Amino acid sequence: MKKILSAFSPSGWQSVSRLCIALLAAWLLGLALGRVALVLAIVLGIYSIVQLWNVLRVEYWLRNRRVESPPDISGVWGEVVTIISRIYRRKQFHRARVTGLLREFRRLTTAMPEGAVLLGPDHEILWFNGRAGEWLRLRRKRDVGIRIENLVRHPSFVEYLKTGYPSDGAVVEDLETDRWLAFNVVRTGTAERQLLMVRDVSQEQQLQHMRKDFVANASHELRSPLTVISGYLDALADDDALDPAWNSPVLEMRRQAERMRTIIKDLLELSKLESGEHTQEEQPVDMAGMLSLLRKEVMALEAHPRNVRLELQSDALLKGVESELHSIASNLISNAVKYTPVEGEIELRWWVDDDGAHLSVRDTGMGIAEEHIPRLTERFYRVDPGRARSMGGSGLGLAIVKHALQRHDATLQVQSKEGVGSTFTCHFPSARVVARSADVLAIA
Ligand code: ADP
Repeated sequence: MKKILSAFSPSGWQSVSRLCIALLAAWLLGLALGRVALVLAIVLGIYSIVQLWNVLRVEYWLRNRRVESPPDISGVWGEVVTIISRIYRRKQFHRARVTGLLREFRRLTTAMPEGAVLLGPDHEILWFNGRAGEWLRLRRKRDVGIRIENLVRHPSFVEYLKTGYPSDGAVVEDLETDRWLAFNVVRTGTAERQLLMVRDVSQEQQLQHMRKDFVANASHELRSPLTVISGYLDALADDDALDPAWNSPVLEMRRQAERMRTIIKDLLELSKLESGEHTQEEQPVDMAGMLSLLRKEVMALEAHPRNVRLELQSDALLKGVESELHSIASNLISNAVKYTPVEGEIELRWWVDDDGAHLSVRDTGMGIAEEHIPRLTERFYRVDPGRARSMGGSGLGLAIVKHALQRHDATLQVQSKEGVGSTFTCHFPSARVVARSADVLAIA
């Protein structure tokens, strides 16, 4: 009670004291007239009518606040009107501020060179800017509230959303407009809202295609003149009439021509892998048989590590393009041969477990320092350029391995220690493992 009394405003106190004085005066007048109850009832009646009139005025003003100015009332009703006016003015100020900010935000997002789409927890569209609307052909009235995968149906985009937005995003080609679009979800820290950014990467894609085409064409064009040069060099090497002083230069020229041939062959193979089309059909490939053959080829080489072991722990087949799987295995094996001394050891292993199929090539060669490992699959990356060149490597072997593995949904794991040796392991998903049927076993 004390708390309520202390919370009364001066005008509240004024109204209470006015009522008390009026009641006291009415009581005294009633005593004088001998009709206390009647006089008190009349005074209370008048008081109630005045209050009701004030309530009606306030209610009328509240309903027509926009056009009517506040009623001029004294006492507690005047105080109520002042408080309501203040709250209303504050609300109007905030609304104007928020509207201004929203307008500014719209202006900025419309001017943005990128598309932005705000998605809800089920990927439903909550908002998008003009650029995203234009590129994805979205309409505000029609598409807000609809799940984006029902409108942008490109498989790699749907896969990107399904797999929890991997960091490399998704790049899709819009066949209708010939535009390449890159999608990336910006993590907002909450699953309730996701901001999907869309970029037009057509120019970058075009440049990349041009680069790939150029490399493929240049390699192709270089092949014929090189064949002629190699032919003449072979003829010169076999010519008994050649001055012996030329023997060594001709040998070196043949060696360099052979290196160029390897580089061109690898460049063409890489271009083919990058072009995205499989040159051959996928089919179950006998990896154990392929490794046995590759081992035989190594043993037939002039120089090779003495001990080349084969650990075939599964006879399962692997679904893939045979030439590409052969390229993976032969590149890894030829590296192991190149970088392992004659007294070293190589182990080829093929096994299947719950995680899928695995192919590993382990050697006890020179090994690779840790800082080089992440860059090994880059084109022309060599740990020791001089040594790798003298070994006749093109610097493209592991780049080919990486691309061929990617086309088989597989990954490459590299473990290596300098001076101890390296293990290159390819991990293929279980979906590619094909159990060897009785017919295949019979043929084998
Ligand atoms: P290259 O044709 O030069 O061998 P690669 O792409 O096959 O090119 O390999 C890239 C580099 O990785 C090589 O130059 C070499 O330095 C290193 N490397 C690859 N395999 C091995 C290995 N088994 N042992 C040691 N170093 C290796």
